[in-house]
Amino acid sequence: MEFRKNDCFSVVIEDMGNDGEGIGKVDGFTVFVKDGIVGDHLLIKLTKIKKNYAYARIEKVEIPSPFRTIPRCPIHKQCGGCQIQALDYMEQLEFKQRKVINHLVRIGGFEQDRIERSMDSIIGMEEPYRYRNKAQYPVGRDKDGNIITGFYAGRTHVIIPVEDCMIGSEKNAKILNIVKKYMQENCVTPYDELTHKGEIRHILIRIGQDTDEIMVSLVINGKKLPKEEMLIQLLREIKGMTSISISSNTEKTNVIMGKEIRLLWGSEFITDRIGSVIFRISPLSFFQVNSIQTEKLYRTALEYADLQGGETVWDLYCGIGTISLFMAQKAAKVYGVEIVPEAIRDARENAKLNQMDNVTFFVGKAEEILPEKYESEKIHADVIVVDPPRKGCDQACLETILKMMPEKVVYVSCDSSTLARDLKILCENAYEIKKIRAVDQFCHTVHVECVTLLQRIDT
Ligand code: SAH
Repeated sequence: MEFRKNDCFSVVIEDMGNDGEGIGKVDGFTVFVKDGIVGDHLLIKLTKIKKNYAYARIEKVEIPSPFRTIPRCPIHKQCGGCQIQALDYMEQLEFKQRKVINHLVRIGGFEQDRIERSMDSIIGMEEPYRYRNKAQYPVGRDKDGNIITGFYAGRTHVIIPVEDCMIGSEKNAKILNIVKKYMQENCVTPYDELTHKGEIRHILIRIGQDTDEIMVSLVINGKKLPKEEMLIQLLREIKGMTSISISSNTEKTNVIMGKEIRLLWGSEFITDRIGSVIFRISPLSFFQVNSIQTEKLYRTALEYADLQGGETVWDLYCGIGTISLFMAQKAAKVYGVEIVPEAIRDARENAKLNQMDNVTFFVGKAEEILPEKYESEKIHADVIVVDPPRKGCDQACLETILKMMPEKVVYVSCDSSTLARDLKILCENAYEIKKIRAVDQFCHTVHVECVTLLQRIDT
């Protein structure tokens, strides 16, 4: 059969791909359907034809899947941030569990049976909305020249106006409106990427889930804004406002935050609590975006580490020392390593704040600090925890872990494809997978976080 762009067909969606796309077959030919839900009967239109497969979009939902729900967000399709909001939440959890298994089997080369046996059930949320404690809204103009804030439409830099994102805090809208009002009244312009002109680029909002403390940081194309006092006065009115700052970013870049932070009012950081540990969080520091699920994630990591009190633990990619301090409650000594100096400053303060003196932090790349310490001091570890960004661990980091040979490695991952790649290396050498548990930190998106326990084979 010959396929052409814009041809229409009826298909049944039989499966869903790792990016949340529906998968169906037309005459044996695989078609990836944007926004298709497993179980849907659809009329689709082909948008792109490749040799062995094609892409399509939905023309009409003929019979909706029983797993299709009405998304709370009216613009979820255009925004693209929540790729699977139309999929029933219980099915989302299933989808994520399967995604992890698929990656471990296909990329890691592990046996499906063994993986399924090692897997604990995924931890979902009771209320999978309003969970994000952080939002970064780009600022721009609509066609009529009005100032808008919103999100970039999937893979573009076109701003879809949104003030009240359903996975973010209800408080965001008020803050955004205040900033817009201030901009209008003082002729402050939004930044334009094409001309590199204009003043305000992004608005960062962070809210302490437990403390209700609010941080606002405006990312600007310059050093100073006109009438900053007025902006401060307006924002201070909001209950819980704790920290107002400016982040200068004058580069032509997709990186949101500038490196320099200037405090306008209040404290340089906000605090939040996870379990019984208190953390201070600065604008440039990484902090997990879903505080409720983070507690479950860290508890799982702690449970997998199964500390008895005498252990030495290394926490690589430690951010502001969150996992380090969780582990320090049960270990003799914890070392944390992190690349962002501001995060380590927070980490050291956090250790003091929680009166934990059995933790030491190092600034630098995990793949440099760990080998350096190992070669020079022959440091020891009973447990190594890693929690790298999506790209996973660097080869040099994995090689050093294999030299140090801790009894356990607890791998916390936000991307199961790089997790699978790294576990393959560790398990080809000296470790085996004992347990895996996914935690749904990013409900309605296709992303999934998981914790894996590796045990040294001779132990
Ligand atoms: N464990 C922390 C942070 C995890 S996010 C938490 O749960 O909050 C990953 C962290 O790795 C980020 O803080 C990032 O700044 C840091 N990072 C990225 N590349 C790194 C590298 N090569 N070496 C050390 N840290 C790195």
